[in-house]
Amino acid sequence: MAGISAALTLQANKKSFLIFGSAELSDKISKAEKIHNYPGFSDVSGKELVSALKSQLLDANIAVVEEKVTGVYALKEKFTLLTDTGKQYEARTVILATGVESIRLIEGEEAFSGRGVSYCATCDGFLYKGKTIAVVCTSKRLEHEIGYLADFAEKVYLIPMYKNVEIERDNIIKIQKMPKSIAGGLRVNRLIFSTTPMEGIPAELPVDGVFMLRESVSPAVLVGGLNVVDGHVQVDRNMATNLVGCYAAGDCTGRPYQYAKAAGEGNMAAHSVSAYLK
Ligand SMILES: Cc1cc2nc3c(=O)[nH]c(=O)nc-3n(C[C@H](O)[C@H](O)[C@H](O)COP(=O)(O)OP(=O)(O)OC[C@H]3O[C@@H](n4cnc5c(N)ncnc54)[C@H](O)[C@@H]3O)c2cc1C
Repeated sequence: MAGISAALTLQANKKSFLIFGSAELSDKISKAEKIHNYPGFSDVSGKELVSALKSQLLDANIAVVEEKVTGVYALKEKFTLLTDTGKQYEARTVILATGVESIRLIEGEEAFSGRGVSYCATCDGFLYKGKTIAVVCTSKRLEHEIGYLADFAEKVYLIPMYKNVEIERDNIIKIQKMPKSIAGGLRVNRLIFSTTPMEGIPAELPVDGVFMLRESVSPAVLVGGLNVVDGHVQVDRNMATNLVGCYAAGDCTGRPYQYAKAAGEGNMAAHSVSAYLK
């Protein structure tokens, strides 16, 4: 919602921009059964709101670039963005509107980020050729990334956090239990479960790496040097972060997690970007 709102305002302000994400927009909108507190709609379903937003974007000639941003690097007066397709983009400013991931971080995940914990199959998959990895996947939409990893790894322990898992491969072993922690030395070397004998799941699995496939990447992982407190990007009234030219809006800046707040902050961030560029 925040990203869409920002995009509409940037378009109105005649700025040149790209919006990254999914053409299906946000799961958090489409999954809402009934929305009662969004201005202009008294009793709308999430699917109806998504459909209205899609037509609004179409009318405004805004197409979502269907790539997941995997890294944002602040350089002198510009940013470089990398995506899961291996492409690289440059921008004068960035608005982070990633939402928040409702699935909590696993113990050890942040500590081992970049040392065996990865968030991007297409960026890091080749590093695990012939190795054993675990893949925690939170969305069916990301199943193709599991297939990509299984092409490289010798063995994949798949921990799906969604229903109707379709992917089947000889080297994929499914485990229906969230791990307790990720452990290792210099790099990840095992995944730990708190299990009961009845569950038939080993207490720990030896792994060379752990992929966390989520729809959104936590801003702290995405942008080096970003000021993040308790999982929320710190912003001022203009939605500016501590990095010059980098703004944030929506759930990622903190509670309440609401559409109207996300839309308002997206709008404010876009105006701040326009003023900054001027
Ligand atoms: C079931 C449900 C019902 C709800 N009902 C209500 C309600 O009735 N009223 C209300 O006000 N709020 C409701 N909410 C809360 C509301 O959904 C959120 O507050 C709102 O969607 C936040 O908007 P956002 O733009 O910050 O994030 P999101 O809507 O989560 O959008 C973030 C988008 O960014 C994409 N993204 C993230 N990281 C990346 C990346 N690295 N690269 C590319 N794309 C990325 C994500 O895939 C997602 O599409 C509900 C939430 C849920 C889950």
